[in-house]
Amino acid sequence: MTFVMNDVKISPDTKSLLFEKHVEYISNYGKDKNEYEYHMTEFLRMSGIYWGVTALDLMGELDKIDRDTVVEFVKKCQCPVSGGIAACDGHDPHILYTLSAVQILCIYDCLSEIDTDAVVRYVGNLQQPDGSFFGDKWGEVDTRFSFCAVATLAILNKLDTIDLPKAVDFVMSCSNPDGGFGSKPNAESHAGLVYCCVGFLSITNQLHRLECDKLAWWLCERQLPSGGLNGRPEKLPDVCYSWWVLASLTIMGRLHWISAEKLQQFILSCQDNETGGFSDRTGNLPDIFHTLFGLGALSLLGSDQLKKVNPTFCMPEYVIQKFNFQKRLKITMFLGT
Ligand SMILES: [Zn+2]
Repeated sequence: MTFVMNDVKISPDTKSLLFEKHVEYISNYGKDKNEYEYHMTEFLRMSGIYWGVTALDLMGELDKIDRDTVVEFVKKCQCPVSGGIAACDGHDPHILYTLSAVQILCIYDCLSEIDTDAVVRYVGNLQQPDGSFFGDKWGEVDTRFSFCAVATLAILNKLDTIDLPKAVDFVMSCSNPDGGFGSKPNAESHAGLVYCCVGFLSITNQLHRLECDKLAWWLCERQLPSGGLNGRPEKLPDVCYSWWVLASLTIMGRLHWISAEKLQQFILSCQDNETGGFSDRTGNLPDIFHTLFGLGALSLLGSDQLKKVNPTFCMPEYVIQKFNFQKRLKITMFLGT
């Protein structure tokens, strides 16, 4: 039997973080409104802004984006009927963009700029009798939405407004014999969904439900000879999985189970030497999504050029500390269980 492994060759040329280039790349994001790309990415504009704001904050360069413009944009995207927030003014609200919006306003410390009671109502209305969450009114169910729901409510200090035990039971029903998690019961394990479920269990203070050694071993098997991490067996490595795998390992206290040095080399090789920004893998075009997750992973690996990132919320740790979410949550959960 031959063993087939998909991997990439990385160029060892780039050994350092192209800090200034990334700042320039991110602060120019969305500035040229005539660009084809700007219109093509309208459906995820809110998340794009969250990725950019978080990345710049981690680099200590948050003032490179105009705060008032961002806050005005977020306010316009809240639906006055459902309370949910859309990717862009005029689009339908979705729980993914609702979380991004709440994260942005939390970083800027101005959550009162939106109707947070309406956001809480919107999230609560998306919970289903089995504990799962719809992403929006169209009714798709996915463990990603369970994560978005509890992360949004945790930031707003309103976790007690949903049926938490049922929400936890649903996420646990999506775990697999390999220790990982899928998008719904019996769905294949995937590193991105592992992150959502581990993050969910961390927020709801239920990490003891995990088989940490088994899951961490599955996550470590995602590292390929190039140093990069893939999301599932036999897939190519991708910078965004650096974040999802590393954040999950960090939450479980097992970051040291993978080769940090090789992963760092892989991530640095995905920087664009000319324009700045990170791509999914060496030689591809950069985008804002992979730029945040590349920087986030480097922060988890201990980069001294970046602020510390919180592995659960993917926001700067100082923001999480300021609002003390996790401490408050533990109190809520002990009372509730
Ligand atoms: Zn990716």
